[in-house]
Amino acid sequence: SPPIYDEELVHKTILVGDSGVGKTSLLVQFDQGKFIPGSFSATVGIGFTNKVVPVDNVKIKLQIWDTAGQERFRSVTHAYYRDAHALLLLYDITSKSSFDNIRAWLTEIHEYAQSDVVIMLLGNKADMSSGRAIRRDQGERLAREYSVPFMETSAKTGVNVQLAFTAVAKELKHRA
Ligand code: GDP
Ligand code: MG
Repeated sequence: SPPIYDEELVHKTILVGDSGVGKTSLLVQFDQGKFIPGSFSATVGIGFTNKVVPVDNVKIKLQIWDTAGQERFRSVTHAYYRDAHALLLLYDITSKSSFDNIRAWLTEIHEYAQSDVVIMLLGNKADMSSGRAIRRDQGERLAREYSVPFMETSAKTGVNVQLAFTAVAKELKHRA
């Protein structure tokens, strides 16, 4: 018989990626359904937000951690990765450097995270078509290379934000 999903499980989920890609904005959009223009980059120690995501008839509990300040030093501590169940890895579609840095983030993730960690690659700021520096197919190709799912999101318009977290929750449920 299929395993029974443990509804008490809390899945530690971490937002990672360069400073300015929109990690905090994505979490605010997911949590509160709004976009607050302006940078949150000075914010340190936001900690985590608990969210419940329904998948089938099961409530998947996500404890979502936002990283702030650590990004520019690449010192998101290794212990921090070690007990992560899921990682949402973001770049900004208007920033080539944030896209180029994804490989370095993935190297670090593969070094320090659990081998079965759920990873999803997100190209954020999809609303900024005029400033686009990275085509969608470049994101898709990189994701395919690392065998991770990919979506373009906008923390501003909310496009694909629910979908991204729901996809992570589904994958966590499948792997449990
Ligand atoms: P973080 O450093 O990764 O947490 O990024 P922030 O959430 O602080 O966002 C950095 C900047 O990008 C801020 O000025 C945000 O308002 C802006 N921003 C974040 N996400 C989006 C988005 O999806 N679209 C647009 N247009 N701007 C965004
Ligand atoms: Mg932030």
